[in-house]
Amino acid sequence: MTDVTYDLLIKGGHVLDPGQGLDGTLDIAISGGKISQIAADIPAEEAGRVLEIRGAGRHVVPGLIDIHTHVANGAITEGVGMGNCDPDTIGVHSGVTTVADCGSVGVANLGVFPAYILPNAKTRVITMVNVGSYAHTMPGPADVSSLDDINRDALVTAAEHNPGLIAGVKLRIVGPAFGEIGEDIITKAKAAANDLGVPLMVHIGDFTAKDAASAARRGELTRFLLKTFEPGDILTHLCTPNSGRVLDPSGRPYPEVAEARANGVVLDSALGRGNFGIEVARRQAEVGLYPDTISSDLTALGQTFHSLLECMAKFMSVGYTLADVVRATTSSAARALGLTDTIGAIAVGRDADLTILDVAEGDFTFTDTTGTAFQGGYGLAPVYTIKAGEEFSPGWGTHPWGWLPASA
Ligand SMILES: [Zn+2]
Repeated sequence: MTDVTYDLLIKGGHVLDPGQGLDGTLDIAISGGKISQIAADIPAEEAGRVLEIRGAGRHVVPGLIDIHTHVANGAITEGVGMGNCDPDTIGVHSGVTTVADCGSVGVANLGVFPAYILPNAKTRVITMVNVGSYAHTMPGPADVSSLDDINRDALVTAAEHNPGLIAGVKLRIVGPAFGEIGEDIITKAKAAANDLGVPLMVHIGDFTAKDAASAARRGELTRFLLKTFEPGDILTHLCTPNSGRVLDPSGRPYPEVAEARANGVVLDSALGRGNFGIEVARRQAEVGLYPDTISSDLTALGQTFHSLLECMAKFMSVGYTLADVVRATTSSAARALGLTDTIGAIAVGRDADLTILDVAEGDFTFTDTTGTAFQGGYGLAPVYTIKAGEEFSPGWGTHPWGWLPASA
């Protein structure tokens, strides 16, 4: 008789971890919440519990990381924001083990994260603070309408009182103030991030800048932003069809995009409800401008339309492979958050964060944020999430029929 060595054994699955070069049938043994062995044919008798992975299209990947979400659930009152998600609904119950909240709150209401959100979440939640003190979010007023909306001293004080809490500073280039003092706002936001020694994440795509002159001005600001960025800073909404996109009017990326990428700036896609144009994404793929990370920008309303997995399927329709979209939500996402030593890999000694998902082949219909429908051949659905060894089942899904995208 063999002694039980492991708490849980994930057996017979197609393990895919592009960041680690894993792609094949392997067993994964878990003890004390950590991965303790990865090998072919680990004997079932050595584990207290065995999870058999069977079925075509079923994969075991590192726990997915969504680097752009909104999970200040219940903390944003009516009139100053839009509804946020429960971190576990879009996290462990959606095949996602880590979410980053990107500026749902400013320094004035940041305290809701350590006091209420983080202690109650099974999902790992990373907090990025809005540079605007009150973080007025869509569809309300702009986050920043004057330089006075950015309080660098308060941000420094908050960071001192909450060591390790603030992982980034978020700025949205949205609203009329950017037409006048856009460069000054960007420069001050960058200084605020540097005060804290954290990356600056900036939303491009200004749905309020509709006329040609405002649109051209947002293009100018995006170029200024890319030159302001330092290694590790994050541009979010790479495929936005709105003003301030990274493609010039003839469809060529601005030269600053390649320079920023070469300099270590992260290009994040964050599809959301407003910032994914399928024509933009296809054009970018044609010219080799691929997203480093795929994220959802989920909000309470957004989560009734799609999921991180559906965002990944949308990029597969553009031509990216399963390995590409898994890398963009695991190893690359971990790098963007500065957490490569902690998350985003299936490796011995790491927390056992795993996502088990089905890759369904079919004829699926998606919609981009301009309302344009497009077809894709793959849909992804979560089967099981394991977070630090703890198992979670998925919720019903984001559509009335469940998780998969609409059938054509
Ligand atoms: Zn967002």
